[in-house]
Amino acid sequence: EGDKIRELLAEKVKEKGLDGHIKVILTGCFGLCESGPNIVIYPEGIFYSHVKLEDVNEIVEEHLQKGHVVKRLLFKESYVDGVIKPVNEINFYKKQTRVALRNCGLINPENIDEYIALDGYQALSKAVTEMTQQEVIDLVKTSNLRGRGGAGFPTGKKWETAFKYSADQKYVICNADEGDPGAFMDRSILEGDPHSVLEAMAICGYAIGANQGYVYVRAEYPIAVHRLEVAIEQAKEKGLLGKNIFGTDFNFDIELRLGAGAFVCGEGTALMESIEGKRGMPRVKIHRTSHKGLWGKPTIINNVETFANIPVIFQKGVDWFRSIGTKDSPGTKVFALGGKVKNTGLVEIPMGVTLRDIIFDIGGGIPNDKKFKAVQTGGPSGGCIPEKYLDISVDFESLAELGSIMGSGGMVVMDEDNCMVDIARFFLDFTVEESCGKCTPCREGTKRMLETLERITKGEGTLENIDTLESLSGTITIASLCGLGQTAANPVISTLKYFRDEYEAHVNEKR
Ligand code: SF4
Repeated sequence: EGDKIRELLAEKVKEKGLDGHIKVILTGCFGLCESGPNIVIYPEGIFYSHVKLEDVNEIVEEHLQKGHVVKRLLFKESYVDGVIKPVNEINFYKKQTRVALRNCGLINPENIDEYIALDGYQALSKAVTEMTQQEVIDLVKTSNLRGRGGAGFPTGKKWETAFKYSADQKYVICNADEGDPGAFMDRSILEGDPHSVLEAMAICGYAIGANQGYVYVRAEYPIAVHRLEVAIEQAKEKGLLGKNIFGTDFNFDIELRLGAGAFVCGEGTALMESIEGKRGMPRVKIHRTSHKGLWGKPTIINNVETFANIPVIFQKGVDWFRSIGTKDSPGTKVFALGGKVKNTGLVEIPMGVTLRDIIFDIGGGIPNDKKFKAVQTGGPSGGCIPEKYLDISVDFESLAELGSIMGSGGMVVMDEDNCMVDIARFFLDFTVEESCGKCTPCREGTKRMLETLERITKGEGTLENIDTLESLSGTITIASLCGLGQTAANPVISTLKYFRDEYEAHVNEKR
């Protein structure tokens, strides 16, 4: 529908002779999924939502030709008490700080010139022509950018490790194997601003001494794959990838590798196995991948959002970056806000804002006057956080203290109608499906937990079953080989901690 609307809009603009001064631009996702398809008219920032094909003519004739805003098509929060607000003044966007998403919804991702016009590839130029490898690493270290893929490991420190190992070959990998149900942060960045990721990968390649990069992206993301292919081609044509970048002796190439949709391939070593042509299963970690990664060579693997932050840190400086967020978690985080919330979509917030800010100010609160019950952060391996913690700061440490994780950025809101035992069962069902089966605690343990949860949700459970869940959770967390198993029990552990009464109510149904 969006494509058809854009094509018709371009056609009508041309037909009316407006194409000399009005340009119809294809962009990536604008973030507010709930309101799509959207048309934003610049420079005023007039934000039309839920646009249909039959609305296009009116927008062209009334707005573009006569200058009359079509009020009935405005996004609900753009038109309040007779006042029209531009897009950046509505709550959903006003309270966000768009760093990783800075170009998404603004530029045509299939036109490298639009990225370059917004200072794109200047960071790469600065890195390779003005800075030593150590200086590049020091800049990233000083920024204290932490990996946005889940664990929050300091990016610069990781790069330095790979830099210090000498090897005949090193690699850079972008992990775009986003598999959490409901998460689409990486997909949006790749669809909306692929060059920011390619530029960052090249900077990383220069810093550690690698000449080859891979983007491991899900085949289920055909638009992202297409835009990456276009972006790589265009960057090569302009000499921004390939040999002698910016006239230096730095060479860097990027290829795509398509994943087949296994969640476990988002785990770094499983992903590397998959690139090597083997079955995607996590390795037993004897070495860090920055020492022995892809084909046993020093390899940096960062996720899409981490890379998308890099060029802008070089452009605007470390002090600017560190002025956003908290001392230990500077910068922003993108969340896919979904579930029982009015404004579903992608939101990017400075680290340190509260869950309440995200859910009620940006997300607009709970629909149908229902009561908030919990929010689950971090995808299927995250924990469910109850209302009493809505005012905690969102950063790596605070979420971990509550038994949840930042993860890659899934955020699912639940209201009073949700059964928390059923929620735990839903996420565990996903993990059981996606377990690769290599180690027993995860392969067998999560299955036994799921069976137990199913018994409880059917009203056939006992109090002993609840004890069994607790004991299995502990064992699986400690004994599993990779992050998938180590975090699989989080939804159960957190719901048992905060909503134990609901488990007991199911058990008591039996009595
Ligand atoms: Fe595979 Fe699960 Fe073991 Fe990870 S923890 S290696 S997903 S069986």
